[in-house]
Amino acid sequence: MKPNEGRLQTGEHILAKILENKIINCKVRIAKFFSDYGEVEFLTTYDLRKIPLEDLNFEINKIVKSNLNVNIQIFNKMEIKDFEKLRVNKELEKIRIVSIGDFDSRPCGDPHINKTLEIGNFYVEKIKRVGNNRYRITFRVE
Ligand SMILES: [Zn+2]
Repeated sequence: MKPNEGRLQTGEHILAKILENKIINCKVRIAKFFSDYGEVEFLTTYDLRKIPLEDLNFEINKIVKSNLNVNIQIFNKMEIKDFEKLRVNKELEKIRIVSIGDFDSRPCGDPHINKTLEIGNFYVEKIKRVGNNRYRITFRVE
């Protein structure tokens, strides 16, 4: 595991949920994690560059500071409602679900931290358009 990966990963789930709640049909395409920053690409017809970074960062850190528990559970795919809609390999029999309190729940196989406060200060650095209806968000933790 890279030094900040658990913190970046968990923060990325919060970021994704906030955007999915705000914007209809906003979906994560791919997320990448480096030693000191992360990148996530979203597919959406809404121009994400219109979102003020300060407001977005404020919302993310409000969740971080509420210190929610991060729980990891393994389910058989038959147990999961709407399995067909998940962005996972449909061949898998077992699915690992990462939940952040009651705020978010999504499949992910990567490392995370146990409590959101461990993320520290999460901040979105930039939002860039990288293609037709594709936006890349770069973020860090400190
Ligand atoms: Zn994750």
